[in-house]
This record gives sequence, structure tokens and C-alpha cells, in this order.
Amino acid sequence: MSEPVVVAIDGPSASGKSTVSRLVAKALGYLYVDSGAMYRAITWKVLREGFDVNDREQVVALVHRVKLDFEIVEGAARMRVDGVDPGEAVRAPEVAERVSIVAAVPEVRQVLVAQQRSLTRFGSLVMEGRDIGSVVFPETPFKFYLDADPQVRAQRRAKDYAAMQIATDPNRVAQALAQRDRLDSSRAVAPLQIALGAVVINNSNLTPEQTAQIILDHIRQAGVRRGAMTVTGRQGGGCR
Ligand code: C5P
Repeated sequence: MSEPVVVAIDGPSASGKSTVSRLVAKALGYLYVDSGAMYRAITWKVLREGFDVNDREQVVALVHRVKLDFEIVEGAARMRVDGVDPGEAVRAPEVAERVSIVAAVPEVRQVLVAQQRSLTRFGSLVMEGRDIGSVVFPETPFKFYLDADPQVRAQRRAKDYAAMQIATDPNRVAQALAQRDRLDSSRAVAPLQIALGAVVINNSNLTPEQTAQIILDHIRQAGVRRGAMTVTGRQGGGCR
């Protein structure tokens, strides 16, 4: 059997990663993995237990104590925490505003990165996040970094909240995004960065379909076909 292929799609908040990654995964027949949802699920659990996200000892004890497993739902891997899939609760503003604090804790990253790497047991993946091309699967030849102008990203996020019928103040959304990007880019461990060799796509003026097409064109140029891998003129398609 051929080695699983990993397509790494990184970028800041609301850069279109989720929609684009789902489209790419569907086109290739690969499993879609939202690594941000995993950090959000741990944050959700911390809040549910009534802990303060700044209480590092409690957060570290919790991430080591909980049982994490995955369910495959409609082509996507969903992480369960102690048997519970938090679902849309991870999208709530209280989680969004605190997730970067939890994600900066090295022990949390260690546990979740191991879980992310283990997902190749299901086959080829499209994984989105902040450090997928730089830390989780640095050997994959398929690395993409999505970006968009800050106002465009704030508008997209406000639209997401409106679709979920969550009332928000547009200024609070823009500030929360900027704050999260600052924390994610400046943290000591696995900061948000453009991975070496990543293709950078600013999609401010592109639809998700156009962005996905650019990614698929790059991947197909390397000889990858739906559900299978034929490498032409490139060394190694597999990942750790
Ligand atoms: O992608 P999303 O906005 O859902 O990610 C939520 C948060 O999870 C990010 O702001 C970041 O703090 C953290 N994260 C991370 N590493 C990843 C994915 C997400 O630190 N690979």
C-alpha cells in the first residue's frame, strides 16, 4: 500500500482554511482534519470543568487526564473528549477568545501533535492549522499558507457568527482576531509562520473554490490523483 499523503494548510484565523481544506479533501478523497478544533475542544473542556485557562497546572493535568479519540463523520475526523464531541460549542466566542492561551501551553501541543500525527492511520489527510507544515508534518511536499487582508478576515468571521446566530459586535470580532493572531504568531512553541517551502496564497479577492483550485493544481502537478499517489519527478510523497 502507498504511504499516506498529507496536505498541510496553515494560516491565520478566518483566512478561509476550513472551507478551502474541506473542498480540497473532497476533491482528493482524503480525510479532512481541523486541528484548530482540537485546541478549541480542549479549551471548551477546561471552561466546562470551571478552570481558568491561565491556570497552567490545571490545564496540563486536564490534557493528560482526558481520553481523546476520533470519530469520522462525513469525511472529517472529529475529536471527542472523554467520549463527547463538543460540536459547535467550540465555535462560541468564549472559546475563541481563550483558545490561544491554551494552545500556547507546550504540554497541550505535545499531546495534540501526537494525536494529529496518528491520524495517518486512517489514510491520506488534508489538515489545516497553524503549524502543520512547520511542525506536525514538516516533511510533506504539500504545504500551503493562506492569508487575507485583516478587514476581509474580520468580515468573514462576523458572517460565521451571524450564520450561527451568535450576536457579536463587529469591533469585538476584529479585536479578538487581531489579538489571537498576535498570540499565535508570538508564542514560543510552534508559532504561526510560513513553513519552509509553503506556497503562499492571499485569497482576499478569491472565492474558496478558486483557492482550492490553485491548491489542487499544485498537488496534481506533482502527480497526485484522487485517492492515490503517483509521484512524478519529486522525491517522496509520504510523511512521518
Ligand atoms: O483554526 P482555528 O481558528 O479554529 O484555531 C483556533 C486556535 O487554535 C488558534 O487561534 C490557535 O491558537 C490554535 N491552533 C494552534 N495550532 C494549530 C491549530 C490551531 O495553535 N495547528
